[in-house]
Order: sequence, then structure tokens, then C-alpha cells
Amino acid sequence: MKAVKIHPELVCPYCGSTAKLTDGTPVYKTTRYGQVYICGNYPECDAYVGVHPNSDLPKGTLANPELREWRKAAHAKFDPLWQSKRITRKKGYMILAEHLEIAREDAHIGHFDIEQCKKLLSLMNKIEADVDAYEEGKGDDPVPKETTQYHRWEKEKESHPTEA
Ligand SMILES: [Zn+2]
Repeated sequence: MKAVKIHPELVCPYCGSTAKLTDGTPVYKTTRYGQVYICGNYPECDAYVGVHPNSDLPKGTLANPELREWRKAAHAKFDPLWQSKRITRKKGYMILAEHLEIAREDAHIGHFDIEQCKKLLSLMNKIEADVDAYEEGKGDDPVPKETTQYHRWEKEKESHPTEA
């Protein structure tokens, strides 16, 4: 087992215990899925959250079995939208944030509670319709290229090559 670090900000929302960073074996019985933060009272308090690869950053807040199921269900419905490359992941989360009426920086399923997961699932038809509309409009560019910000930057670079 790798060294156990304490992440001071990560506290179990169910029992208030400080979460511990582990190599994943306590919950997955393998290290294959990467590290996890688990509740200091695990297994009495069955709450944990995965860690972003090659970091010790938690993917969200600690979740109990019920919340984990809801987050899994939300990911299963939402992720294919960007995994299919129809839209970028970033655009997907922008659409999600708009529909859930939350800030873009709060639009992470790993941070959702059960109610937010349910809301996302109930809005999937609308979100999918938005993705369809976005995809249809992608082909034509309503703004003439010359007036886009990007084009203006390019022009400025050309006229001031030394400053570029
Ligand atoms: Zn706990």
C-alpha cells in the first residue's frame, strides 16, 4: 500500500471524519482503478471518491453507496454525448450547466448530490435536443470570418510581427 496522505479539505459529509488517500485496494480490491479518498471510518462508513489520474485531486465529494449509484447513472447517460465526439467535453458541460442552472465550475457530476443527479437525468431529453441543435448549426458559420475575434488577433499579429 502506498503512503497514506491526509487531504485537509476533504471531510466525509456523512460522519465528519477526515478522508484518507489510499491506493484503492480497500474499496476495489485492486490498485487498477487508481487511488481513492475513503472516509476515515471506512468500512463502518462506506463513503469514498476516486482520484484524477496522476494526481491526488479527488473527482468530487465522498459518496455513500446510494449517491455513488446516482452519479454512475448520471455519467452513463451524460458522458456518451461528448465521448461520441459529437460535442467537446467542455461544450457538453456548458450545456449541462445551463440546463441545471448552475455555474460552469459547479458542473461536475462528482460534486452532485442525489437531487442534482435526478435533475440531470430528467433533463437529458432537453440536453440531447440541445446537442442535436448545436450539431446541426455547427456546419455554417453565421459570423463572417473577418469579424471573428480570432481573425482580428491573426490580423494584429501580421501587422505587428515583432510583438507576436
Ligand atoms: Zn464517513
